[in-house]
Amino acid sequence: MNAPLINIKDISFDYEQTKALDHISLKVEEGDFLAILGPNGSGKSTLLKIMLGLIKPTRGSIELFGQDAKDFKHREWIGYVSQKSNSFNSGFPATVEEVVAGGLAKKSGLFHRFPKDYKESVGEALEAVGMESFRDRSVSELSGGQQQRVFIARALVAKPKVLILDEPTVGIDHQNVQSFYDMLASLNREKGITLVLVTHDVDTVTDKITHVACLNQTIHFHGYKNQLDSMSDAQRKAWYGHSVRK
Ligand code: ADP
Ligand code: MG
Repeated sequence: MNAPLINIKDISFDYEQTKALDHISLKVEEGDFLAILGPNGSGKSTLLKIMLGLIKPTRGSIELFGQDAKDFKHREWIGYVSQKSNSFNSGFPATVEEVVAGGLAKKSGLFHRFPKDYKESVGEALEAVGMESFRDRSVSELSGGQQQRVFIARALVAKPKVLILDEPTVGIDHQNVQSFYDMLASLNREKGITLVLVTHDVDTVTDKITHVACLNQTIHFHGYKNQLDSMSDAQRKAWYGHSVRK
C-alpha cells in the first residue's frame, strides 16, 4: 500500500499562551475528501498550517508522501487556500487570469517568471472551478463565491495532489454553497485531487466527503463519514458543541 499523503503523528502545538493542539494523530490517504469540523478556536487552522509546514509542531512529527516533513522537497504537491483569502479590498485591480497565473510565478531577482504554457494551465484551472468565462474580468467585480473559485484555481494551476481549504464558504451566499461543494466533489472524484477541508457546513458537506475528523484541541473522532451516523447525540455535542444531522 502507498504511504499516506499526510501522516500526523502525535503532534501538539502551543502558542505562547494557548495550547492549540494536544496529541493529534491523523492520516490522509490518496483520494480522500476529509472534512475537519470543530468549534471556533479548536485548532483547525493551526492543524492545517502544520500540515503545510508553515509552523512546526511543539511535539510529534509529520510525514508527507512517506517522507519526514523536514526532508520533503515537493511543496507544490500540496495546494492551500487560506481562511479569508477571498476578502479583497474593493480596489483590487487584477484580472482573473493574472490572479490565477500568480500560482505559477517563480521569483527570479526582481521579476516573476511564468512558464511558457501558462495560458493553457490557467485555462485548465479555471475550467476545473467553472470560471473559464470570467478570465478577463477584474477580480474585484466578482461575488465572494466567484472570488473563492478564482483562489482555488490559483492553487490548482500548480497541479497539486492535495488541496487544503480553510473555511472556503465564508463569504459565499447561502444559495451558492451547494454548487460550490459540487465543484469540490468533482475535483475529488473526477480529477482525483485529495481534499482536506475545514468547514462548519456539516449538513451540506456530508454527501460529498469520504472522511471526517472532529477536532477540539484533540481529535474526538476520525474515520469514514458514515461512521458519524452511528455516533450518539451526546457524543456529537461533546465534540461539536451542538447536534448535527444524523
Ligand atoms: P480554529 O481555526 O479552529 O478557529 P485556530 O487554530 O485559529 O482555531 O486557533 C486555536 C487556538 O489558538 C485559539 O485559542 C486561538 O486563539 C489560538 N491562536 C491562533 N492563532 C494564534 C496566534 N498566532 N497567536 C496566539 N494564539 C493563537
Ligand atoms: Mg480557523
